[in-house]
Amino acid sequence: MKVLVADDDFGSRLVAQAAVEQSGHDCIVAADGTSAWELYQRNRPEVVVTDLMMPGLDGLDLCRAIRSAEEDSYTYLVLVTSKDSHADVVAGMEAGADDYVAKPLDPFTLHTRLLVAQRVTSLHADLARYREALAEQARTDPLTKLHNRLKLAEDLEELHDRSARYGTDYSVAICDVDNFKSYNDLYGHQAGDAALQAVANSLASEGRKSDGIYRFGGEEFVLLLPGQRVTGAETRLLRALESIRSLDIAHSGNPSGTLTVCAGVSAYVSGHRVSSERLLKEADMALYSAKNAGRNRLEIAPEVRHIVRS
Ligand code: GH3
Ligand code: MG
Ligand code: MG
Repeated sequence: MKVLVADDDFGSRLVAQAAVEQSGHDCIVAADGTSAWELYQRNRPEVVVTDLMMPGLDGLDLCRAIRSAEEDSYTYLVLVTSKDSHADVVAGMEAGADDYVAKPLDPFTLHTRLLVAQRVTSLHADLARYREALAEQARTDPLTKLHNRLKLAEDLEELHDRSARYGTDYSVAICDVDNFKSYNDLYGHQAGDAALQAVANSLASEGRKSDGIYRFGGEEFVLLLPGQRVTGAETRLLRALESIRSLDIAHSGNPSGTLTVCAGVSAYVSGHRVSSERLLKEADMALYSAKNAGRNRLEIAPEVRHIVRS
């Protein structure tokens, strides 16, 4: 572990540092509260052993500052107190300390506290990993491994805010598999699942790294294309439609005999700075037109169609 020792008394600092290093940990030392706080921010140690009374920030201030700066990590805080009055100890614990040791510091006592610190910080690290994995799982579609609707909502809000702030463009597309109900009826639900996976892979394998591809629901997918205007988005989507056709998945319920998709596109561009909800709606209406026009095609929302030509 990385352990930060903060103490304005040279002798106590040396004793603490020796105890930390003999316990097999890396030690960083600070001679006052202010430099301890700076070292903490720079090094993010797992454990801080801090004196209570120090010039600048005192031990309680340091504990509070660390607790409020923590995000996913957890710092085990040990307070070193010369006056081990109950009131001081309670104040320390309330400021965020996990434990305390009395001065003069006994190396064996500190060693035992570090054993506990190791256990607690490793539990917190496990917890942070689980939290992160769960957050990712909650945003992932298990069938296609694409991101899901929840992640789409988060990413779209972020993309929209960024584009509004900097006056940049982005496009939104909704894709929907043609006659997919009849595909399931003809080939079975399992084959339907496999087809959705193949479509998802095709959508994801084209385009830029910054493109966002999401399973919107059932057999519908959404693409967020940062920095793309209508023409760029159209080219990107036409390539995707072609790559899905060239998978050559037999679908006797389609006039072409193979699995196809439709796409509807709209864009956040100069002259059309509307809300992200509005763009999704326009892309959905364009998709509906593509379906009505015979499927296996792309339609651009009429609201931005003129921008393609300009
Ligand atoms: P259209 O060309 O107008 O889009 O017609 P469609 O049949 O594709 O549209 P509809 O919305 O009527 O049917 C969608 C079908 O997608 C119905 C549903 O059973 C199927 N579906 C949705 N999610 C899944 C899934 O996860 N796996 C499988 N196999 N089928 C799914
Ligand atoms: Mg469909
Ligand atoms: Mg559908």
